[in-house]
Amino acid sequence: MSFTYVQPLPTPAEIKAEFPLPSSYAEIKKVRDEEIAGVLTGKSDRFLVVIGPCSADNESAVCEYVSRLAKVYDRVKDKLVLIPRIYTNKPRTTGSGYKGITSQPNPEQRPDFKAGLIAMRKMHIHAIEVSGLTSADEMLYPENWGYVEDILSYVAIGARSVEDQQHRLTVSGFDVAAGMKNPTSGDLTVMLNSVYAAQHPHDFTYRGHEVMTSGNPLAHTVLRGSVNQIGRDIPNYHYEDIVRLIELYDKFDLQNPACVIDTNHSNSGKKYRQQIRIAKEILHNRTENEDVRCMVKGLMIESYLEEGSQKIGEGVYGRSITDPCLGWADTERLILEIADAV
Ligand code: PEP
Ligand code: MN
Repeated sequence: MSFTYVQPLPTPAEIKAEFPLPSSYAEIKKVRDEEIAGVLTGKSDRFLVVIGPCSADNESAVCEYVSRLAKVYDRVKDKLVLIPRIYTNKPRTTGSGYKGITSQPNPEQRPDFKAGLIAMRKMHIHAIEVSGLTSADEMLYPENWGYVEDILSYVAIGARSVEDQQHRLTVSGFDVAAGMKNPTSGDLTVMLNSVYAAQHPHDFTYRGHEVMTSGNPLAHTVLRGSVNQIGRDIPNYHYEDIVRLIELYDKFDLQNPACVIDTNHSNSGKKYRQQIRIAKEILHNRTENEDVRCMVKGLMIESYLEEGSQKIGEGVYGRSITDPCLGWADTERLILEIADAV
């Protein structure tokens, strides 16, 4: 057989025992989870902003970024709930390339998942320490949820995973917000079926156990644009797209209709500076129609210390090694503008 068993991995319980979440941080998470749930259930008028680098490749740059975010947050807290994007697992279109700190704690060296699982947990805890904010991550490997389930306040299921049963069923056992993205094809029914699956109870196998889940009423949709037959990006953040989503939501029996719009990826065609215009356009559309305002409950923005992206090895501190991001000055300005516009 062609599998090589490289190394056994510590269990979530072992890693949690070695790197426990301080109880004061658990309290912070509880409050933040409630704030986010308040927005998604319509009890709160605040607006979610999930923001940060495409990939959290370097603990020190990420912590510098989130500590800056925390300072801005003090000025916009009454209007926004800021959720740092600390993405430690990267799905790759062709399977090759950097797959996140969980795979490669050092992007210039070969994969080491044991060190990676530790790096992932340490970075998330360190980020809370420097910012007082709990984060969002993408769940690329459902079996790794246990390593961070006590830490994260928001989980995204990516465009390439959203049709997968194990992802959907695992989300049905979370008690935090989960954003199910539209698939790269753009089929909105796949995304809504995914929300349906995640919101209902299931019996399945998970890490060697038979398990039962209760369903996650905080599962919601994330629009990220799509790619057509000839590889062209087709945005889905426009007014008409949201109206269509509202109509579709009406056909499904779902709790807490809500959508977060990803301003990068196929919505910007990865022209990262367009995220500023796209964010403003979405906020304007919310003012045009009360149903649109109720449906669009947040934005997801890719941003880091330095704008753009670089190749691994170029070594610019705080510049993305995956998708291109807004730089800090634009980010700060945009957050303040979003707070003014909601
Ligand atoms: C991402 O959020 O960086 C990402 C890979 O998103 P998507 O799954 O929408 O491509
Ligand atoms: Mn990205």
